[in-house]
Amino acid sequence: MSSQNSAPEYDAKKVVVVFVLGGPGSGKGTQCARLVRDYGFLHLSAGDLLRAEQTRPGSQYGAMIAEYIKDGKIVPMEVTIGLLRNAIQEALESNATSDKEGWGNGHGRFLIDGFPRKLDQLFKFEETVVPAQLTLFLYCTEEVMLKRLLLRGETSGRADDNIESIKKRFRTFVETSMPVVDCLRKRDVVAEVDGTKPVDDVYDHICQAMNAKFHQISTS
Ligand code: UDP
Ligand code: MG
Repeated sequence: MSSQNSAPEYDAKKVVVVFVLGGPGSGKGTQCARLVRDYGFLHLSAGDLLRAEQTRPGSQYGAMIAEYIKDGKIVPMEVTIGLLRNAIQEALESNATSDKEGWGNGHGRFLIDGFPRKLDQLFKFEETVVPAQLTLFLYCTEEVMLKRLLLRGETSGRADDNIESIKKRFRTFVETSMPVVDCLRKRDVVAEVDGTKPVDDVYDHICQAMNAKFHQISTS
């Protein structure tokens, strides 16, 4: 990865990044799946990457990640940024000769879901990897999010979909992650979307923001 005071590793004109932010249970993953289908983006969920690293045999971070996730705390950014950077690099390499719109020859488009969750992550990621073009922010009440997470907890098997962890995650979101959204708002690149609405309505709203910036590539 690039060292301090140097340019980001990737050119933002070639490597297009959209941050997808919102509280736990606000619908980020659900909406990202639709965007993958319709806009040719690759979905990188920071939480999923961390959970995969946690269970990877031989990982030196497994136990630490497990502890942070259960407590709803933010894993040290070097780990998360390293995982995101490697996932981006792998996707660019495996699509090097792709003729899909937005891909091939060092080009790619990425939805980064659930990251950055802390200001230092935002600054470090944009300085060393690539700056984002757009942020989708799903706002949602804790009441709605709690209901969704408890329902998901019945089948998700996630160590943090229980009431104790959920309360900690809500707190981390308000105290640590909302400052990231506020910082991005000052740049005027945040599309604010009401995440309490039905999935289709939320997606319609997201598409308006995406269409203003990117070309929809499928007809579904
Ligand atoms: N996490 C983290 N850094 C990140 C993203 C996630 O440390 O940049 C950890 C954090 O403990 C968080 C957990 O992973 O509570 C689950 O994140 P995920 O995005 O899967 O939760 P969601 O918001 O989708 O419910
Ligand atoms: Mg998620």
